[in-house]
Amino acid sequence: MADALTALTTSDLAAWLRRSSTLLAEHASALNELDAAIGDADHGSNMKRGFAAVVTALDAEEFADIPALMKKVGMTLVSSVGGASGPLYGTFFLRLGTSQPGATQLDAADLLAALRAGVGGIEQRGKATVGEKTMLDAWAPALDAFDQASTGEDTSDLAAAVRAGAEGAEQGREATIPLQASKGRASYLGERSIGHVDPGAASTALLWQALAETVAGQEGSA
Ligand code: ADP
Ligand code: MG
Repeated sequence: MADALTALTTSDLAAWLRRSSTLLAEHASALNELDAAIGDADHGSNMKRGFAAVVTALDAEEFADIPALMKKVGMTLVSSVGGASGPLYGTFFLRLGTSQPGATQLDAADLLAALRAGVGGIEQRGKATVGEKTMLDAWAPALDAFDQASTGEDTSDLAAAVRAGAEGAEQGREATIPLQASKGRASYLGERSIGHVDPGAASTALLWQALAETVAGQEGSA
């Protein structure tokens, strides 16, 4: 019987990024279609290219700790993704790492703090707030759900908390449909941005799905 996973190591987080790359590549066309409706049809291609470059970087190097890994990931995304999403996701991973100096593993509380720091970076860089039809509209409910689940009765069940976070991200993605975009390329459409899923919220939900699958997989093999 496997013990419940209570913390993520540097290599668990690398596995998350690899799983993210696979999921983003699988969903690249679907993300491009979402972006075709309210942007320039490249979000899936951007994310696929960026995360393929991340996997290449992971293959080439060993990382001493989580900040070193996340610095590499963030810098790779900033330099390999052309769109607005590159600097935003890049900043997310850079901040996630710098918030945990020297860390080689993150328990639920550390992970929450790290993800919050990352999302703070997205907010600072993109100057958007919740409700403007961006990736933040998936990050915010995901973090709230993760927070609630990880500070509830069974705080040792990291997998359940991450699953709750992934469900929050999916709900946030769907909740972008009725919103009018007021940041990014979709804002040029004004009211015509209403009635569509925000592509960045959809890619954020995929990152959470990848995290949930990674944690579930690590648990099974522990
Ligand atoms: P581009 O808009 O340059 O083509 P992408 O298509 O890769 O870049 O990414 C678009 C996504 O980026 C949007 O769906 C939205 O979620 C996100 N985004 C754009 N601007 C912002 C912002 N200022 N703050 C947060 N997220 C943003
Ligand atoms: Mg685009």
